[in-house]
Amino acid sequence: MSALDDLPPLSRVIATHGLSARKALGQNFLLDLNLTSKIARQAGDLTQCDVLEVGPGPGGLTRGLLGMGARRVLAVEKDARCLPALEEIAAACPGRLTVIEGDALAIDPLAHLVPPIRVAANLPYNIGTELLVRWLTPDQWPPFWQSLTLMFQREVAERIVAQPGGKAYGRLAILAQWRADARIVMSLPPEAFTPAPKVSSAVVHLVARPEPRFPADPKVLSRVVALAFNQRRKMLRAALRGLGPDIEDRLRAAGLSPTDRAERVPLEGFCALARQIAQN
Ligand code: SAM
Repeated sequence: MSALDDLPPLSRVIATHGLSARKALGQNFLLDLNLTSKIARQAGDLTQCDVLEVGPGPGGLTRGLLGMGARRVLAVEKDARCLPALEEIAAACPGRLTVIEGDALAIDPLAHLVPPIRVAANLPYNIGTELLVRWLTPDQWPPFWQSLTLMFQREVAERIVAQPGGKAYGRLAILAQWRADARIVMSLPPEAFTPAPKVSSAVVHLVARPEPRFPADPKVLSRVVALAFNQRRKMLRAALRGLGPDIEDRLRAAGLSPTDRAERVPLEGFCALARQIAQN
């Protein structure tokens, strides 16, 4: 038994600290500690890692991460009401949990954590995609993180792992799969959360690759992909007209058909096109 096992059940924590869920903060809590331990296990071996957790809420996943032996956890929570509950967890694991009250979008993880760093979170749905895009597009690669284990609405999770040919395939899939290996590792029904959201959720595990899958300049690739998918129903030659008058030649030189549509172009094709555009 560790001191973590002596902490009260999460339903009691919520009642004691008056943590009624606030929709504006994307609060859908996980109260089943078996489930939060299972999610923490998906994050890989934590024993030699510092972990960044965004939005710990009452601390279910935080307990899971500490229980899996995380060297240190930095938990960033915007809702001050959750802090006393998190301090109880910190007291049970001296020196291993640091809680910051604040906005995860404004935190520099490297100011607080020592690599190797893993990120694990049941993300607030309103900033989940924004955080993921930031983590996938740092100025330097490899990024500060070794892996990301993140809960999203199922539809967003499917966009992250999507392959060419379907509606889910787009900018998020390209960004995620260009420099990381991404897969869905768990699916959760709405009833797993309190309160239950309207939609199902899924946990995505992303591991940073040391090098991109195919060479390309990140800014050029980003621009090409944004333009291509902004008008995803148009043929590439029309959607990408803004990249120059010779776009059809560039597309052919990259091995792509000017009459094809973005959702059919594999990652490799976008990288080849980005290299062609960068040459210009
Ligand atoms: N981790 C907890 C769990 O699994 O039960 C709570 C997850 S809940 C989906 C999202 C959490 O993120 C809430 O506790 C909410 O207060 C917090 N949150 C919302 N916006 C945030 C932000 N900008 N920065 C940090 N935390 C935020």
